[in-house]
Parts: sequence; structure tokens; C-alpha cells
Amino acid sequence: MIAIDERGYYGEFGGAFIPEMLHSNIDNLRSKYLDIIAEPAFQKEFQALLKDYVGRPSPLYLAERLSEKYNTPIYLKREDLNHTGAHKINNTIGQILLAKRLGKTRIIAETGAGQHGVATATVCALMGIECIVYMGEVDIERQAPNVSRMRMLGAEVRPAKSGSKTLKDATNEAIRDWINHPVDTHYIIGSVVGPHPYPDMVARFQSVISEEMKWQLEEKTGKTNPDIIIACVGGGSNAAGAYYHYLNEKDVRLVAVEAAGLGVNTGESAATSVLGTKGIIHGSRTLLMQTDDGQIIEPYSISAGLDYPGIGPMHAHLIDTARAEAVSVTDQEALDAAFMLSRIEGIIPALETAHAFSALDKIEYQSGDVIVVNLSGRGDKDLNTYIKYLDKIG
Ligand SMILES: *Cc1c(COP(=O)(O)O)cnc(C)c1O
Repeated sequence: MIAIDERGYYGEFGGAFIPEMLHSNIDNLRSKYLDIIAEPAFQKEFQALLKDYVGRPSPLYLAERLSEKYNTPIYLKREDLNHTGAHKINNTIGQILLAKRLGKTRIIAETGAGQHGVATATVCALMGIECIVYMGEVDIERQAPNVSRMRMLGAEVRPAKSGSKTLKDATNEAIRDWINHPVDTHYIIGSVVGPHPYPDMVARFQSVISEEMKWQLEEKTGKTNPDIIIACVGGGSNAAGAYYHYLNEKDVRLVAVEAAGLGVNTGESAATSVLGTKGIIHGSRTLLMQTDDGQIIEPYSISAGLDYPGIGPMHAHLIDTARAEAVSVTDQEALDAAFMLSRIEGIIPALETAHAFSALDKIEYQSGDVIVVNLSGRGDKDLNTYIKYLDKIG
């Protein structure tokens, strides 16, 4: 059985490594989250918002020309069609409803590329709750359109000015804020990372993806299970959602696609399952990219959402136990896949998602295997990167 234990571990990965000052916050969350999520009133509100606000169920689309190219049926789980353009909204809707039930009146979040910040600002606007998003100063410059979106949605974007002025510094600022506002504030983490119960809580909110996949596949193929599920992994939340209801179904192969950046051995990479070692990051024990003396190595990927030096503890466990297969894809391969999908199916994917499509060239399968690719998000946000590439290829 692949499941989290009471201490918040998947095998040897997970747990809650947090400063003393956060113990009461985390304990409060840990002792209440399962009961709150199980409440019929919570489920009713969550499901209603997923349906009418997010636009779920997201379609499961048989990509015919893509299937022809790879000579096997390929279905796309269309998380790109969700409100705000990706899967991240599933989690922020869940957490804002939870925060309300915990009596919280103030939300904080950290964001790298700004996608999670936008999804958080969106649900805070929806609920009329104060929202503060920490973002590295460098990222604020690199991701200006998302900063504007968050501001338009009424959130305050606070720059993190220490260290490399990127995601990990924003995370430190958010944790510091939470320590200073333990009573009224809920911290919305955007992926299956962080101290227990976050990885499990976020996985549960994203599990709607595989829940829908089961009945949608049955409708379309007569069977609930595909042969292979492919998803990209930054922290791992869209993958966790796509795998969730198949974790214990051994006949379903799980493929986790990481960003190799310029190449796994170039020093400019984010392929954590290859380059990572066991350690603690963001409050949990997992695989992360670190030096011999435990300093975090700055990751690199063309795609901001995969540019993370760790992976969630669930994925560390899945890869460590060979339940999931890890594939790494370079910037160039991801760009090629983005153009391939755009031109063969008329769907411009997010750069993160493009990595998942490139894995179709790398995995072994037999003709006839049913493959589902989790199409985690749309490519509008990446148009500037794509345009530069377009100018090159003509
Ligand atoms: C943020 C993001 C990711 C990476 O995050 P996960 O938690 O690994 O899912 C992947 N795809 C898209 C479109 C994203 O916005």
C-alpha cells in the first residue's frame, strides 16, 4: 500500500521539520484537516466551486493525431481548461475553504513564477480574504504579468530581498510571517511539499484529477485504468493528483517527468531524482539538490514551475521504490514538444507541461497501450519564451 502514515511519512520521506514557533499552527492543521475535508458541508461547497467556478470536470480528450504519431491511444487530461489556466486552482480552492473553517482571516503564500500566487489571489478575492504573496525580487522582475494579475486581484505582493531573491527566499519570508501571525493566518502552500500535513492535504485536493480520469476512461475505453500516466513534476502536485487513485494499482505505470534544464550533467538542471540526495527542504525530508555540506543548489529550468530544488516526499518515495519511473527532459526537448503539440493538436501547452509530452519520445510502451498525459496548464504565460524560439525556427 502506498499511503501516508500518521506521522506524515511516505516510507522514509516526509515528516514535519519546523521551527518550534510553528508547532501549534501545524498541529492545529494536522489534527483538523481530515475531519474538515470529510464534512459533507465542506465537500458540497468544494464540489460546487470546482464545478461552476473552476469548470470541472476537466475533459479527457482523445488526441487523435497525436495518437497516430505515436501509434497508441493517447488521452489528454485537460487541466489547462481550468479557470486561471492550470491545476493549481484545485488546491487553492480546497485550502481557502479549509482556512475559513479554521477561522483564519488572512492568507499568505509564496510563489516563484507567480502561478501559485495568482491561484491564491484568485480564491482570496472570491472569498473576500486579505492576501499577501511573497515573491523573490528577481522573480518579480522576471514574471511581471503575474505580479500585475495578483495586484489586480487585490493581493499585496511583498518582495523577498535576501539570498538569491528567488523562490526559497520567498518561502523563508512566508514562514517568518506565519511565525509572527500564528493565530489569524493560514499559509497556502502550492504543491505537495512542505511539512506534514501539506503534502497529503494538497494531494487530496488535487486527487479530483484521477477521480475524474477513472470514470472518464471507463466511459471512453470501457476500463477505468490506463496503462501509463505521464505528468511533469516540479514539487509534484499535478502528478500527485493524476496518480492518486492509481497509486495502488500496480498495472498502471506512473511516469514522472523532471526538467533537465540544459542537461542533467551541465550544472544547470532541476532533475532532482537524478541529482538529489536525501535531506530536509521546506519542512520535509525528501530528495533535494544540495552540496556535500547541505547548502541548496540553485536549480535551473527554462520553465519556472519546474525550477525547484526538491520534489515532494510522495514522489521521492515513488521513485525510490521504483513505483514511478523518472524521466528527465531538457529545455530544448520541451520547446520542441510544445511546438509539436501546438501544431498537431491545436493546443499550446505550458512549458512545464511540454516536458511531459517530450517523455512520449523517451518511454517504452507497446502499440495499443492507453496513455494519459496530464495537461497541467496552458501556454499563454509562456508566449514570450515561445516567440523567441519561433523567431529562431521560423
Ligand atoms: C506550477 C505548475 C507545475 C508544477 O507544479 P507541480 O506541483 O509539480 O504540479 C506544472 N505545470 C503547470 C502548468 C504549473 O503551473
